Amino acid sequence: MKSNPVVLITGASRGIGAATAIYFARHGYDVCINYKTNQHSAEKIAEQARGFGVKAEIVQADVSDETQVLTLFTKVDELFGKLDVLINNAGILKPQMPLLEMGASRINEVLTTNVTSAFLCAREAIKRMPSGGSIVNVSSAAAKTGSPNEYIDYAASKGAMDTLTIGLAKEVAKLGIRVNSVRPGLIYTDMHRDGGEVNRVERLKDKLPLGRGGQPEEVAAAIYFLASEQASFTTGSFVDVAGGL
Ligand code: NAD
Repeated sequence: MKSNPVVLITGASRGIGAATAIYFARHGYDVCINYKTNQHSAEKIAEQARGFGVKAEIVQADVSDETQVLTLFTKVDELFGKLDVLINNAGILKPQMPLLEMGASRINEVLTTNVTSAFLCAREAIKRMPSGGSIVNVSSAAAKTGSPNEYIDYAASKGAMDTLTIGLAKEVAKLGIRVNSVRPGLIYTDMHRDGGEVNRVERLKDKLPLGRGGQPEEVAAAIYFLASEQASFTTGSFVDVAGGL
């Protein structure tokens, strides 16, 4: 019997990552749900995924830390025995601040969490994709807007991620591995609370051409498309899921 394809999603205990785990499970993928701190919430997402008849496991790891990334992928080997798709989703947004007030520790935390993690996880995933595979990076519309006066560190981290997508797509194309990005904008998740403004999406939604904020499931659908065979001739590309922003 043919085994299910396997997807690893980083930072998948809530928000876009959690919705993506459920989306892949619904489409017959075995899912590895990485989380940093919220084990209870990760386990609930895994239970939901199992409801679709697939295997779902949770693995704790801070993906900004190289040693923990190595442990995460060793666990993927033990639990699943292979890897077909990696979703680099984990990310953080710190409270609004102009550059003149930003210290190196905040900037480094944002860059290592949002970009270094994607480099490290991609490197480990590629080693486990001898017959090809797919990587989707969760970037942001902020990579294009720059988020001046509030989240310039976050925006720059996503800009770097976009360049990683372009370069890595070319680097691993000969291995049959595709690398693409989604660029969400103003999605209803708890990230905005962490970023210092619980109601950010509500405040700004009327400015979007579609006149509303997005749901995590709408981002998950684009991630799934890019990862799937439906996008077999697409690599080094970007899909904006941002209501026209
Ligand atoms: P979220 O805060 O709900 O999810 C982020 C997840 O990443 C959390 O579960 C968090 O615990 C996890 N995480 C953070 N640091 C980690 C680490 N070091 N190791 C492992 N996990 C870690 O927010 P979200 O909106 O679901 O964000 C998912 C992705 O989407 C992020 O990369 C974010 O930048 C991106 N994004 C979100 C929006 C939006 O409007 N919500 C817009 C553009 C891009």
